[in-house]
Amino acid sequence: MHIIIIFLDGIGLGENDPTVNPFAVMNTPTLHMLAGGQRWLRQTPRTESERAIFIPTDAHMGIAGRPQSATGQATILTGRNVPAELGEHYGPKPNPPIRAILAEDNLFKRLVTHGKKASLINPYPPGFFETLNRGKRLPSSIQDAALVAGVPLLTEQDYYQGQAISPDWTGEGWTHYLGYHDAPVYTPEAAGKLIGELARQHDLTFFSTWITDELGHRGPFSDAVAYMERFDRVMAGLLEIWDDDEGLIIITSDHGNMEVQGDRRHSENQVPTVVIGQTRHAFAEGFSSLVDITPRVLQALDLAP
Ligand SMILES: [Zn+2]
Repeated sequence: MHIIIIFLDGIGLGENDPTVNPFAVMNTPTLHMLAGGQRWLRQTPRTESERAIFIPTDAHMGIAGRPQSATGQATILTGRNVPAELGEHYGPKPNPPIRAILAEDNLFKRLVTHGKKASLINPYPPGFFETLNRGKRLPSSIQDAALVAGVPLLTEQDYYQGQAISPDWTGEGWTHYLGYHDAPVYTPEAAGKLIGELARQHDLTFFSTWITDELGHRGPFSDAVAYMERFDRVMAGLLEIWDDDEGLIIITSDHGNMEVQGDRRHSENQVPTVVIGQTRHAFAEGFSSLVDITPRVLQALDLAP
């Protein structure tokens, strides 16, 4: 049983309005297939299709206000209602109480404790580690969860060795913006296949991208569409080599944002969760909010208490 979690920061289920919502216009046949031939919109109900279950997911969890990254990601990785424990949605980076919750237990830690292999397959450039080690940068909840579990954050060497997936999927960020002119560049389909290969080496493979949230804060609309169309090709590549009896693929998010272009704040929309795999029905049973992810992943891995 191999679990893949693909975390897209800041994507929600918004209105079917082609002037504000990239999801209303994007050409993403694979994503639509995963929602039974429908676009990922507010009007799209929970839908079962041939390989997947699409589940509109509550990111509020009983707490009013705009859901934020630190509490949302910590909830995804602990199965605890972190906004309720704090009394507010908080972010983007975790504060000491959230870090205490993550340190107590989290999905990465649970796997490591039970001798299972967990990986956060994002590569980070040297500048990231410099600012982190100098205390100039706080880790996100996801990075913090991995670090307290002893799961190392991957480096540019891991990226060169094909052990990590760039948040832009293709790696052009490494060649164009970070100056690694000889770094690997993948087609989106090849990046998707590589995710599948990496997943076969681990019990839990977690991929996270912040670019979706950034495109929600700043746009432009056309870049948001292009990024999601690239993700569609990533999923096509992954699903081509992935057998549904190998495990579960879970796509989810922490809060809405990208689906409301022109408003730089997070939205209060539900977020999409998609689960793919032979045991998806057990996973989806009773699933309604971000607290439901960790318990079901642990159950799928036979690690539930
Ligand atoms: Zn976020």
